[in-house]
Amino acid sequence: MREKACTICKETFTYKNKSKQYCSNACKQQALRNREKVKLIRAVVSRPAAGSLETTELINRIFNTYIKQVEAMCKEMSIHYSTVIFMKDMIQSLKVAAPIDSKLKTQLEQMKGVMTTLYKYSQNNQCEYGYCSFDQRTANNALNTLKHIKRLRNKQSRERPED
Ligand SMILES: [Zn+2]
Repeated sequence: MREKACTICKETFTYKNKSKQYCSNACKQQALRNREKVKLIRAVVSRPAAGSLETTELINRIFNTYIKQVEAMCKEMSIHYSTVIFMKDMIQSLKVAAPIDSKLKTQLEQMKGVMTTLYKYSQNNQCEYGYCSFDQRTANNALNTLKHIKRLRNKQSRERPED
């Protein structure tokens, strides 16, 4: 019988088998838990683009509000040209920040298409103060695409809990 220090509690213990590292089952369990903890920390730290989950969540929230805003724009009387430009730039930024090849990115791409159409319309149909109101056809086209995007997003949020 020989003696050595337990890897966990540092108490000296006697051993027959040289590969034995722990004085007791309790210390063996503790070592296992320590290894699990290290694994967990590694998984969190090495996750690609740390914070990307929060970014996606943030984009989703902004996007939901954005959809409501564009719906209102299509239903209300008039909107300033500069607001349309802002909305068009904003959707582009959200699209760039969205995860590559995601459903979210595809939806943002569709939304960008809507904004490009509205932008072009407002470019050519504004009053001397820079305001414009969308005609029935333009507004309906935009609202139909919005409906489609919302359907996709509702479907997705219903599927999410089973992921
Ligand atoms: Zn021990």
